[in-house]
Amino acid sequence: MKIFCECGHIIHDNTDCISYKASFIADQDSSDLRYKIEEQIKKLVTNIEDAASNKIDVDVLIEDTMTDISDTITDYSPRTIYQCSECGRLFVDDNQFYTHVFISQDNSVPKNLMRSIKGDEWKFNPH
Ligand SMILES: [Zn+2]
Repeated sequence: MKIFCECGHIIHDNTDCISYKASFIADQDSSDLRYKIEEQIKKLVTNIEDAASNKIDVDVLIEDTMTDISDTITDYSPRTIYQCSECGRLFVDDNQFYTHVFISQDNSVPKNLMRSIKGDEWKFNPH
């Protein structure tokens, strides 16, 4: 995917871990998301407790739960924000995935607002 910014810069989205892209969760949804993850963890604990008597592989249970949690996070954060690294414009999805454009107030606005909270310390971690 490409976004053609008004300033002439082209914003590419064709890989993972993009420093100028963020997914976001509405504050109204964040506690629901935490609750759903908590439920999935509680279910995992119960399943692990039952695993020995049912001869179930715990690693499979953990892997399945991690997949479920990842899917839940994706369900709650499907919308994205991109920031043009040249002019700082923001491209923000609404609930219908229509992109709205916001222009920086002035040149002092950082143009890397979407990068990792770890800043320069961030490193790709494939796990
Ligand atoms: Zn731009």
